[in-house]
Amino acid sequence: MPRYTRARIDLDALRRNFRQARQRAPHSASMAIVKADGYGHGLEPVARALARETSCLAVATLDEAQHLRDAGIESAIVLLEGVHEAADWLVAADLALQPVLHSRHQLEGSDGLNQRVAVWIKCNTGMNRLGVAPQDVAGFRQHLDAHPGLRVVGLLSHYACADDLSHPMTRRQRECFQHLHGEHPDVQVSLANSAAHFHEPVPDCDWTRPGIMLYGGTPLIGTSGPALGLEPVMSLESRLIAVRDLEAGEPVGYGATWTAPGPCRMGIVEIGYGDGYPRHAPSGTPVAVGGYRCALIGRVSMDMIAVDLTPCPDAAPGTPVELWGAQVGVDEVAGMAGTISYELLTGVAPRVPRIHQGGHG
Ligand SMILES: *Cc1c(COP(=O)(O)O)cnc(C)c1O
Repeated sequence: MPRYTRARIDLDALRRNFRQARQRAPHSASMAIVKADGYGHGLEPVARALARETSCLAVATLDEAQHLRDAGIESAIVLLEGVHEAADWLVAADLALQPVLHSRHQLEGSDGLNQRVAVWIKCNTGMNRLGVAPQDVAGFRQHLDAHPGLRVVGLLSHYACADDLSHPMTRRQRECFQHLHGEHPDVQVSLANSAAHFHEPVPDCDWTRPGIMLYGGTPLIGTSGPALGLEPVMSLESRLIAVRDLEAGEPVGYGATWTAPGPCRMGIVEIGYGDGYPRHAPSGTPVAVGGYRCALIGRVSMDMIAVDLTPCPDAAPGTPVELWGAQVGVDEVAGMAGTISYELLTGVAPRVPRIHQGGHG
């Protein structure tokens, strides 16, 4: 018997979340962000489902783009981190990718291109990670326009604090980018990540770039995907493999960090941090057992966790467990573990099979 632990992926929910992004930015097109293995949901099936909704996908790395082309996906593909080595240019040209450029360093190796590569310019409007300084964008663009192998198709920038609706930096970045747009009205512009789809107003741009919202996670702090009208896409599922009765005072797990306050029944679930369940999830983190919300107890092990079965006294070995999905929100687990749903979703380990459902129709 193969292990039961698995991630079920609802590709119809994914597509409905994409349509939510479209509705929130009706004057823009949206490129679907599928980097990091489709935020852990499986690059190829996710891309295939989203390619039915949009003509443009975006990835971080050349390998991810290669994987999509090998799978026969013909959508436009934006390469968000651009190219890093001379040899990358031939691959980018061959695969018809659209690299995002932030520096002249990246042009090394682009001289010999015998077909034009469409490129985006990454503008630094305040995040100070990657990007051309606003005052240098015009010069960089001139340089690229004079290059026989390249064609500038757009300007792109990224928000630093879009998850916090009251952060003043977002407005400054938007204004800076609007100014750049004014200076380059002939190319496309793209600013909004998922969070900006919930801003008032949604920034005016040709392309939005929704990522986490497609997968049902919240891009905003202090809320959850479902509270924003998004549907969970991944259900991380397992089952009980043991049940045991504890006396008051008996400890559970490594470090004996949790002790039974009174007689109780606990269960062992066959999932742990080796599967990507967060080791930092504390006692009390919700875990749905047989449809009842129970609580994690003790430390998360590599292959197992323990749960307090008080809300679900009939549970037995084999009872299904949901770690996150429709009954326990991934944002809720992330909050308990001191992280964000992005990290939990992208961190589901390769040993957990992804079971894809829907996505056609
Ligand atoms: C990952 C990424 C996005 C998507 O961000 P979300 O917060 O997941 O919506 C958008 N733009 C760029 C440049 C990215 O790297």
